[in-house]
Amino acid sequence: MSEYRYKRVLLKLSGEALMGEGGYGIDPEVTDRLAAQVRELHDDGIEIGVVVGGGNIFRGMAGAAKGMDRAQADYMGMLATVMNALALQDAFERAGCECRVMSAIQMNEVCEPYIRRRAMRHLEKGDIVIFAAGSGNPYFTTDTAAALRACEIDADCLIKATKVNGIYDKDPKENADAVRFDTISHHEVLVRGLQVMDSTAAALCQDNHMPIIVLNIEGDGNIKRALMGEPVGTVVKE
Ligand code: UDP
Repeated sequence: MSEYRYKRVLLKLSGEALMGEGGYGIDPEVTDRLAAQVRELHDDGIEIGVVVGGGNIFRGMAGAAKGMDRAQADYMGMLATVMNALALQDAFERAGCECRVMSAIQMNEVCEPYIRRRAMRHLEKGDIVIFAAGSGNPYFTTDTAAALRACEIDADCLIKATKVNGIYDKDPKENADAVRFDTISHHEVLVRGLQVMDSTAAALCQDNHMPIIVLNIEGDGNIKRALMGEPVGTVVKE
């Protein structure tokens, strides 16, 4: 345990991170691989909260772009995150980790309601807590929900697991000369408009001194290495 630099973490997984090559939905092989990574941390005593997105199923903006009422579409997006949360819970439990799903929208038949003090208790006991339904409010993203929950549970850092290995000065897919940052400040992320997370999420982390580690979820053991302070991805800090 002593080799770890962080004890309690909030892991943000995008919906895309669950869909594998399929382009839609949930790939059980992917969730199983994720569960194996998370289990190692869990066994080492790391307290883990997870916020999962819903973009592999439905995004509010996509619905609104086709003429839907934005708030209505956002509620559909939040429900999509609950499906992902249940799939992750299943994978984590099959991997041998106790895991709770707490939803910001009450759905008592399928998961617990989000109650902060209860979430803290679960984490202290060593259960993984998956926070579903984002913040429970339309017009927000799960990145902002992740920043919010990270602050609420007093996490030591927020890990944003993506398909890119950190933050670049420009889109690395379109620019061969894009340069990756090892570290960068929240302020610079905001001022440069870097597309790592939306500005509401980045500002919330800045105001509450929450470090963010942006890394590639697909690299073997990347999360563990990052938590041990190895230079994996980009660290956003003051
Ligand atoms: N959403 C919302 N409020 C929240 C979090 C999420 O309305 O607090 C909705 C929003 O429509 C969003 C969708 O849920 O598009 C899925 O979340 P997100 O797009 O952040 O998922 P990701 O891109 O991480 O897969």
